[in-house]
Amino acid sequence: MITQTLRAPADRLASLSPSATVEMTDRVRQARAAGRKIIGLSSGDPNIETDERIVAAALTALQRGDTHYATPAGQPELREAIARREAGRCGVVYDPADILVTPGGKFALLAALMGIVEPGDEVIVPQPGWVSYSPCVRLAGGTPVALAMLDRVDAAALQGAVSARTKAIIVNSPANPTGRILGADEIRAVVDLARRQGCWIVFDQVYADLTYDVPVVFPQAIEGGPECTLVVDSFSKTFGMTGWRLGYLAVPSGLSRPILKFLQHSVYCVAPFVQAAGLAALALYDELAPRYRNRFRVRLERASRALSQIGGITCPMSDASFYLFPKIAGDDSATARKWLDEFDVAVLPGSAFGPAGSGHLRLSLTASDQEIDDALARIARAGIVA
Ligand code: PMP
Repeated sequence: MITQTLRAPADRLASLSPSATVEMTDRVRQARAAGRKIIGLSSGDPNIETDERIVAAALTALQRGDTHYATPAGQPELREAIARREAGRCGVVYDPADILVTPGGKFALLAALMGIVEPGDEVIVPQPGWVSYSPCVRLAGGTPVALAMLDRVDAAALQGAVSARTKAIIVNSPANPTGRILGADEIRAVVDLARRQGCWIVFDQVYADLTYDVPVVFPQAIEGGPECTLVVDSFSKTFGMTGWRLGYLAVPSGLSRPILKFLQHSVYCVAPFVQAAGLAALALYDELAPRYRNRFRVRLERASRALSQIGGITCPMSDASFYLFPKIAGDDSATARKWLDEFDVAVLPGSAFGPAGSGHLRLSLTASDQEIDDALARIARAGIVA
C-alpha cells in the first residue's frame, strides 16, 4: 500500500518560499477582480506593448509553418544575432556555439545553475536580490549563501561569504531591486575572487539596456572574466516581451554542450516563432532600446523627486531599470500593506528581497504616467508607517 508520506510533494519544493513578486501580482489581480482600482507598482513587467513589427515576425513564422520543434540550442541566425549584440554591448566576441537560447532569463539562470552546481555546493546570492536566485540555487541542489550588498559589494564581506564549497557567485548588475550598477572595483573584486577560488560567476544582465548615465561593467569583458562567467540575459525588459518567454545564456567555451543536455531533456527548445520574434527585436534594437530607456528615465526622475519630498522617504534616482528603491524611516512591510489596503497602491516591501532590503520599498514604474501621478499623490497622503 502507498502511504500518505510517499505521496507528499518533494522536499526540494517544500524548501522554496513562494515568489513575493508573483504573490503580490496575484493579490492585485484578486483585488481588481473584486472591483478595487489598484495602481500596480509591484510587478517587474514593463508596460510596453511588444512592437507590432516583432509581433508580425512571429505571425509570419507561424504562417510559413514554423510550428515544429526547433534546434534545442536555438536557431543559428538568432544565436549569431545575439553574439553580435553582445559584441556591440560589452565588446566580447562570442562564438554562436557558446550561446544557448532559453525560454526567458529565469530559465537561463536555472540552466546555468543546473550546469555547474553539485548537490551540497554553495552559491553566493546578492541581498537584497531578485527573489528567484535562492530558489533556483536550491532546485539545482545547492545552498544559497546571502551576501549583503545593498550599497556596494564589499571585498572583505565577499571573502567572508566564501567557503571551500563555494561553486558560484551570482551577480546582478544593474540590480533588481535597487536599480544600482556595480562599479568597476566591485566587479573586479568578484572576478578576482572567482579566479582565486576557482569558482564561476553567474552574471545576470537583464536590465543592462535600461541604464541612464552610469555605464555597466561586464565581468565577461574584464581580464580573467570570460573563462569563468556565465551570462544570463533576456528579451523581456529591453523589448517589452515578458510573455514571450525568450532569453539566453552566453557561456565560456566548452560549457554549452553539457548545459544543452539540460535544455534537451526539459523544455527541448524555444518555440521557433518566438525565436523569429527575437530576431526581429534585435534588428530593431537601435530604434527601440533608446525609446524605452528615455521613457523610463523621465518617469524615474520625476517620481524620485516627488517621493523625496515626502517626510521619512529618501529616494535617490536609480542608475538603471524601472525600479526605485527608496529608504524609509519606518516599517517597510507595514507601509506597503497600508498603501495597498487603504490607498490602493501596490508596491513591494524591501524585505521581500531579503533582510538586507528592509527599511526600503520597491516601486516599479510600470504603469501609465497618469497612474504614477495618482499613486504619488496617494502616497503623499498615506505617508509611511513608523
Ligand atoms: N533577472 C532579474 C534580476 C529579473 O528581475 C528578472 C525578471 N523579473 C529576470 C532575471 C527574468 O526575467 P525573464 O524570465 O522574464 O526573462
